[in-house]
Amino acid sequence: MPIKKRDPDRAKLDRVVAEARRQKEDREKGYREQALKLYPWVCGRCAREFTLKNLHELTVHHRNHNHDDNPPDGSNWELLCLYCHDEEHARYLHASTYGETSPKERHSETGYKAFSGLDALLKKHQ
Ligand SMILES: [Zn+2]
Ligand SMILES: [Zn+2]
Repeated sequence: MPIKKRDPDRAKLDRVVAEARRQKEDREKGYREQALKLYPWVCGRCAREFTLKNLHELTVHHRNHNHDDNPPDGSNWELLCLYCHDEEHARYLHASTYGETSPKERHSETGYKAFSGLDALLKKHQ
């Protein structure tokens, strides 16, 4: 089967995308190395300690969630283990979805409201 010649525009796009991806990876590797030099290898949440052996499980979190914000003094970085990092982002997603700063408090508030609404409903039917 003959190999089809690829559309040149498509090939160019692929190259651009590959280049952009490589640059992003380089940049990520760069700030991770810097963060690992700046900070002790300890998760900022659960205080788990890391060694060279499991260092790949220690990730760099951006405090303001902007991955392009990488001040050289490390003020936007926090070292988190994979689990705590996941949790941190889940919380942030929740917070931004509901447009509030303290998702925990709001959570119980909505719980309460749901209950009081339910209460009223039940009373109506009694
Ligand atoms: Zn952790
Ligand atoms: Zn993060």
